[in-house]
Amino acid sequence: MATKAKSRKKVDTLKSLEEKLLFQKKSAWEGLKVKEEKEIIDFCEEYKSFLDSSKTEREVITTIEALSKPYGFKEIQKTGKKSRKLLLKYDSVAAALVVINNTRNFADGFLMNGAHIDSPRLDLKQNPLYEAEDMAYMKTHYYGGIKKYQWVTRPLALHGFIALENGKRFSITLGEDSGDPVFTINDLLPHLAKNQNTKKATTVIEGEQLNILVGSIPYKFKSEKNAIKLAILNKLNREYGIKEEDFVSAEMQVVPAGSARDVGFDRSFVGGYGQDDRVCAYCGMKAILDMSGSSSKNLVMVFFDKEEIGSMGNSGANSNLIERIVNDVLQFYGKGDYNTLIQALSNSKFLSSDVNAGIDPEWKEVNEPMNAAKIGYGVCLTKFTGSRGKSGSNEAHAEFVADIRKAFNKDKVLWQTTELGKVDQGGGGTIAYFLAQYGMDVVDCGTALLSMHSPFEVASKADIFHTYKAYKAFYKYL
Ligand code: MN
Ligand code: MN
Repeated sequence: MATKAKSRKKVDTLKSLEEKLLFQKKSAWEGLKVKEEKEIIDFCEEYKSFLDSSKTEREVITTIEALSKPYGFKEIQKTGKKSRKLLLKYDSVAAALVVINNTRNFADGFLMNGAHIDSPRLDLKQNPLYEAEDMAYMKTHYYGGIKKYQWVTRPLALHGFIALENGKRFSITLGEDSGDPVFTINDLLPHLAKNQNTKKATTVIEGEQLNILVGSIPYKFKSEKNAIKLAILNKLNREYGIKEEDFVSAEMQVVPAGSARDVGFDRSFVGGYGQDDRVCAYCGMKAILDMSGSSSKNLVMVFFDKEEIGSMGNSGANSNLIERIVNDVLQFYGKGDYNTLIQALSNSKFLSSDVNAGIDPEWKEVNEPMNAAKIGYGVCLTKFTGSRGKSGSNEAHAEFVADIRKAFNKDKVLWQTTELGKVDQGGGGTIAYFLAQYGMDVVDCGTALLSMHSPFEVASKADIFHTYKAYKAFYKYL
């Protein structure tokens, strides 16, 4: 029997108990060194230019291809030398960066991260152009969940991709350069808005009113029927060689014009379009590029399309895209048997990287503060999403969450546990459960945003930086 130690153990004070036992949130800015602040600011400078060059899925892929090239990533179809750093593209709208360091044990799985690169926007309809009151407009159909009233009376740019019958494919961008014209959706003046002002926010601007203003000069200055429409088609035909029917096989995305900006006197935020979910896509890309020279593991970063409309389609997470990615990699190394594929998938670990809702002091009532994301308090780790009793959620297993937080703590990642809104307030899903279908462990993890899905989303630079650090820690320590 052990003798009672005659320890002069200090009796805990409330203060020391607090330090020892409480799970406390911490501000990322608190106690920061000047050098660390600079690292955060510099990281976000590059991030802003990524946002500017990547306003559509196709543009994101092009940017990723350009940024990964100097690190030695090669397109899988274009490299025969069993390269260890691969870029896989799927229809130019989804992609994966893959780092292979161990070709013997593919069945052990990969460390995978995935974000989506589509963002809410307005798409031109397939037959968009019409005249009204001697002006020309183009009709749109919104993509993803938007508050329609946020998209009126602001400069809009057109980012288009057109596929012609003759096989020609090309892109059009108009509205981003200072000399470019922009487009806009008009709203009713307040003087005459008596009826409009009584409407609910969901109908104050109707979907069919989201028409962009595109011109007003009739062909040869003669005001005849369709003369304005024809003048515009004529201009488009001369500049791009297209006719009206070509819009049918085009993806013309109308997005907020202009660059991402610093927000605030202290420049502590990034404001810009498409941060859901390009903030996670960027941080994930940076993490795998950084780790590509120093890891001994097999790493994957996937860029999904179509998340904002339910992950459907062959480029979305609700397709067999992840299966095709892993299979393509296995085939490349000559290990493409079905058994290895199934095992590689089920033994993988997946970070489902998507944004979360930061607490906005003006709308505090939708959150439960103990479990909601605080802006500037680090990356969000979200064990479950869904709504009405976690419905529709992949809930991560406790063991996996333990491994994740261990990795984050080891690498001094500032993280917080988060939940999307109060119980029964609403909710939302991510790509997590589509991946979990393959048997792999999946957990949600990403940056908190303000004004999510708006034309100008806001994120804390510190949170962006810790998202990047979190993704790196995952690759390092899982
Ligand atoms: Mn998202
Ligand atoms: Mn979203």
